[in-house]
This record gives sequence, structure tokens and C-alpha cells, in this order.
Amino acid sequence: MFKALIGRLKQGYRTMDFPSAEIKLPPRFLGMPGIRHAACKGGCAKCVGVCPTGAITLLAEKPVLDLGRCIFCGKCAELCPGVFKFSGEYRLAARERKELFRGDEVVKRTRTLDSEMKRIFGRSLKLRQVSAGGCGACEADCNVLQTLTYDLGRFGVQFVASPRHADGLLITGPVTQNMKLALRKTYDATPTPKIVIAAGACAISGGIYSGHPETAGIPEEIPIDLYLPGCPPHPLTILDGILRLLGRIE
Ligand code: SF4
Repeated sequence: MFKALIGRLKQGYRTMDFPSAEIKLPPRFLGMPGIRHAACKGGCAKCVGVCPTGAITLLAEKPVLDLGRCIFCGKCAELCPGVFKFSGEYRLAARERKELFRGDEVVKRTRTLDSEMKRIFGRSLKLRQVSAGGCGACEADCNVLQTLTYDLGRFGVQFVASPRHADGLLITGPVTQNMKLALRKTYDATPTPKIVIAAGACAISGGIYSGHPETAGIPEEIPIDLYLPGCPPHPLTILDGILRLLGRIE
């Protein structure tokens, strides 16, 4: 008993100082890409060919990167380090799909819910996590949020077991044909008003499974309130996105 208490005292307080402290992630985390159009000669399209998920397209011969498709493999930066540079920035969330397309413009942080939704969900948000054919990586990072390091519950955000007890859904995975009906039923079972979060490249765009006949994607009639890019999204990307959506950080 005493040993356990002494051990606990030695461990001290382990929950990270988020969002007040500036958190620097290890260099292996690539984070927000920066694209320097001025350094791109334009038109060679090698970056388009090297990207495994079709995340890069050319607009007026200059690359545009879709964060909703990017799996952060870093191949574009290896090919053209002067043009593609990853900043390590984990704040990647966006409210609209079109906001995930990155050219060389300045990045804006995601917007909060409208005032009525903020009033309802701002202090307490219960989410039902739907793993719709995911590989387990996005799900694992959601799980990590509930450990004492991140302590998601201190923000009033919790994952719950039933959509009937939830204020919204957090969807991971490309939504396989087998999961399409289950997702639909889970969405319908969640009381309105509700929030829908698409977490990870697969949920946003199909990711590496995009175009496969077994990939159904999130149906258009399910409106998405928050996009969390990554493969998988870092737990801080998820946490930051949710807290910004709720207006808890700006
Ligand atoms: S880092 Fe993203 S955009 Fe670059 S090649 Fe990999 S998947 Fe494509």
C-alpha cells in the first residue's frame, strides 16, 4: 500500500499542459505542409506522380495539396524540398472540405460552431465513435485522448457507448459498403441537433482506399461539421479541432 502511494507521488501530475503550453512534437511528425509556389518552376507534375493518394493536383501549373487526402508520407518533400516543407504544426482541423486544399496562402485556424450550437455543446459534448472500416490507427489515437496524458474528460468531452446518449458522431475509416447502413442507422439514432466529425484521411476522402468499389464514403446526406486530417490524425490534432469547434480555444 505504502509502496503504491510513494510510487504515485513520485509520478506526479502527468496530464499535459494543453492548451496553455506551446507543445512541440518530435520531428517525425510532419504536420501542416507549406507550399512555396515561387520555388516551383511549374508544370513538371512529378509531385503529382509521386503522391500515393492523388493528394496533389496542379492549378495554373502550380501544386495544390489536399490535406483531406494526404497521408503525410513525405514523398513530395523528398522530391522537391524547396517547394514542399512540413512545419510540424498539428493544428490542421477545418470546418469545410474546401478549406483543406492548400496552395501557398496563409493558413487560417478553424472556426467555431454558431452561437446556438456553441451554447448547447460548448461545455459538454458526448461523442459516439463509429469505426467504419478503419485500420485501427485513428481509433487508437481517439483512445489515447482518454488516457491521463491528454485527459479528454477535463474539457467535458467524452466518448459514449450509445448514439442515443451522444451529441454527435466521430467517424473514422473509409466507410466500407458493409458499414454504410450501420453508419446511417447510428446517425439517425443520434438525437438532433448533432455534430459530425470526420477523422482521418480515410473518413474525409477514402484515403488510400479511395476509388475502391468497397469504399462507400460518408453519405452526402450526413453533413460534416469538422474535418480532422491525418493518417492517423495526431491526438492533439483531434483535441485542438474539437476544442476550436466548441469555441474553447481560439
Ligand atoms: S506527404 Fe501527402 S501530398 Fe506529399 S506525397 Fe505524401 S500523401 Fe502526397
